[in-house]
Amino acid sequence: GESIQVRDLAEKMGKTPAEIVKKLMELGTMATINQEIDFDTVEIVASLFGVDVEREISEEEKILEEIIDTEETLQPRSPIVTVMGHVDHGKTSLLDRIRQADVASGEAGGITQHIGAYQVTVNGNRITFIDTPGHAAFTAMRARGANLTDLVILVVAADDGVMPQTVEAINHIKAADVPFVVALNKMDKNDVNPDKVMQQLTEYNIVPEEWGGDTMFIPVSAKTGLGIEDLLERVLLIAEIHDLRANPHRLAEGVVIEGELDKGRGAVATVLVQKGTLRTGDYLICGTNWCKVRTMTDYRGRRVEEAYPSMPVEITGWSDVPEAGEKVQACDEKIAKEITNLRLNEKKLEEQKKNSRISLDDFFKQM
Ligand code: GDP
Ligand code: MG
Repeated sequence: GESIQVRDLAEKMGKTPAEIVKKLMELGTMATINQEIDFDTVEIVASLFGVDVEREISEEEKILEEIIDTEETLQPRSPIVTVMGHVDHGKTSLLDRIRQADVASGEAGGITQHIGAYQVTVNGNRITFIDTPGHAAFTAMRARGANLTDLVILVVAADDGVMPQTVEAINHIKAADVPFVVALNKMDKNDVNPDKVMQQLTEYNIVPEEWGGDTMFIPVSAKTGLGIEDLLERVLLIAEIHDLRANPHRLAEGVVIEGELDKGRGAVATVLVQKGTLRTGDYLICGTNWCKVRTMTDYRGRRVEEAYPSMPVEITGWSDVPEAGEKVQACDEKIAKEITNLRLNEKKLEEQKKNSRISLDDFFKQM
């Protein structure tokens, strides 16, 4: 992945290396001036200094995007939502409850197969939920440059309040500059204190609308279903404000949400399509892997021939198991194989370099 030395980061930010090291220590990382830190950490450190950092996109890439994605080709797409929050505050329960809400909304058939993401329909609009809650997944994807979340639901148990992983989630949300709502969960319990939670969150500059701030707080209960509809409607409202669009008329691009080796089907991966339309038979490149899409299944386990922007699909036909957060790109067969070979060679060279360095170290140790 991308990384930068503390020394260089300090220079870029106009700070002293000591200031950066101090911030890193506050975040629980011991670092030296020469230490390499990854992009995700850079973003968090920068945000603590009030600085926005962005990955560099080349001029060519920008121009190409503008030619391909014109006003006419861009079409509305559903929002992609991630749930974050402290352990045991109810992330999994909330995701389960939302999934049930969709079944209740009248779509035929229960959800038989479980992949790393699912979609629900609310008042005729779709929402895509990434079903791998947790900061690790979010961080892994962002470290690879996959900013695929449009919106975060920050779950805070109303009986427990702000906890360490709540703060961690807030840091990620702010570093990614992604819109969010707060779901005050477990409101069915007797010992809840939502006002206290709101008060606690003001310390992180998260102020509810009713107190003059700009953050939506929605009281919910994953257990009873209280407030779930309200939460989903607010999510759609925020999505509408952000005018999310993608061009379906191009070769597909997406991100791997999870990959695994299946005994019967070989390497499989859940991919979230971000741009274009993905079709069975398409060739894909993904890191040092390639794929001729053999089958695609949607989140309900139904075979599909096409996948559109914001749609998660499970894909078979990979040369090897892709990793979460890796970028997926459709291209023609020849290019897919050439690029894969190039990347494999690069990887081999890097490993050879690493190995020779180690053996040199060993050599000195022996002296
Ligand atoms: P996660 O670690 O954030 O994914 O939390 P879980 O969804 O696993 O929930 C942790 C515990 O809290 C479980 O025992 C849930 O049954 C319980 N829980 C989750 N949501 C609610 C809720 O709204 N009300 C009550 N009473 N319990 C809840
Ligand atoms: Mg969980």
